[in-house]
Amino acid sequence: MRILIVGAGYAGMSATVQLAARLRRRTGVEVTLVNAHERFTERLRLHMTATGQRLAELRIPALLDGTGARFVRGRVAAVDADARTVRLDDGRVLRYDRLVYALGGVADTATVPGAGDHAYTLSAVEDAARLAERLAGLEAGAVVVCGSGLTGVESAAETAERHPQLTVTLVGRDEPGAAMNPKARAYLRAALARLGVRVRAAVEVVKIRPDAVELADGECLPADAVLWAGGTRIPSLATALAVDERGRVLTDPALRSVSHPEVYAVGDAAAVRQGYGVMHGTCQSGMPTGVHAAVSIVRELDGKRPEPFRFGYYHTPVSLGRHDGVVQFTRPDDSPRRFHLTGRVAARYKETVTASPWPTFGRMRRMPASAAFWPRGGRFTRAVAE
Ligand SMILES: Cc1cc2nc3c(=O)[nH]c(=O)nc-3n(C[C@H](O)[C@H](O)[C@H](O)COP(=O)(O)OP(=O)(O)OC[C@H]3O[C@@H](n4cnc5c(N)ncnc54)[C@H](O)[C@@H]3O)c2cc1C
Repeated sequence: MRILIVGAGYAGMSATVQLAARLRRRTGVEVTLVNAHERFTERLRLHMTATGQRLAELRIPALLDGTGARFVRGRVAAVDADARTVRLDDGRVLRYDRLVYALGGVADTATVPGAGDHAYTLSAVEDAARLAERLAGLEAGAVVVCGSGLTGVESAAETAERHPQLTVTLVGRDEPGAAMNPKARAYLRAALARLGVRVRAAVEVVKIRPDAVELADGECLPADAVLWAGGTRIPSLATALAVDERGRVLTDPALRSVSHPEVYAVGDAAAVRQGYGVMHGTCQSGMPTGVHAAVSIVRELDGKRPEPFRFGYYHTPVSLGRHDGVVQFTRPDDSPRRFHLTGRVAARYKETVTASPWPTFGRMRRMPASAAFWPRGGRFTRAVAE
């Protein structure tokens, strides 16, 4: 049995270390992980990379050393789900019996003219590094962050804190922190103001020019750098797989592709339906999907049926620079509870959450059943099917 995981982000790493730990003593099973880089991309910290902060060197092959899982460095060019093959951009072809599809998403620059050509993104570490270089070269000027979701909020705050000589404007349809309770939202808004971030909510960006952002009412915001954080899409690398309108792989309750059940889709790349709707991409939900896919594949090997995946959200932690933040605690459907944290405590909470996946992978590698706890429907439930 050849098990191939494509994408070593939060979801793909979770799947790989769980599979390696659970299949360590089995013969005739190969676990292979493919990723574009040997270094783990801490996507939760890409706004830090974009503002020139150095991150730890987290090496994927070193983490997998001794687990029996093989690491292949390569960029996936295409997945042929009918032929059960993955082609890399250097021409190599990998075959699989089970595929875990975990390639994540990229900034959706197709929705506004000029975004693809003139805006920076946080799609990948290289994109964030390009923005860092641009910001470092600006002695003065204006930065416009398009998209008032949490990626836009965190990026605008981080930019304003690290580059106080620049004027940072955050523009978007929604009020920043729109999904938070009124007190948490008000705190977030005041914190952005303290950092000097100008907020333009309820506006529609219609065009990105080389030196400006054009709004629907005709106003132009001059910009020396534009960050596009206006939503994500999933690149269409697997043409035969059934996907939704954003390119996410449509899954059955056990996270298998509805068109190709030998493919499990996890993390941001999957459209996972729960009682409250289709889950939106987060690390907090992505890691459990990876673990669940691994558990399900092992169940299949044992002749058992995979179980349905169930997940409830529990928090939305937001950094506002390095010393401030807001943590909104949520109901399982991601609606806000009254309870929230602010200030340094929230900043520490967010940092703990952000730093935790890598050591968690290390623990899961040795103890497959111990680290995988997540809330389902609001209760913490053991994530082990057996
Ligand atoms: C600034 C920022 C802050 C965030 N903060 C939070 C937060 O506080 N909490 C939270 O829950 N979520 C947060 N998120 C969202 C979170 O980062 C994503 O939901 C999460 O990374 C999804 O995990 P994933 O494994 O599906 O994809 P990713 O982490 O994106 O991993 C995908 C992997 O696939 C690799 N890859 C992609 N394409 C190819 C290819 N063609 N060939 C080979 N390899 C490829 C990539 O290099 C990467 O290693 C944040 C996102 C951003 C940008």
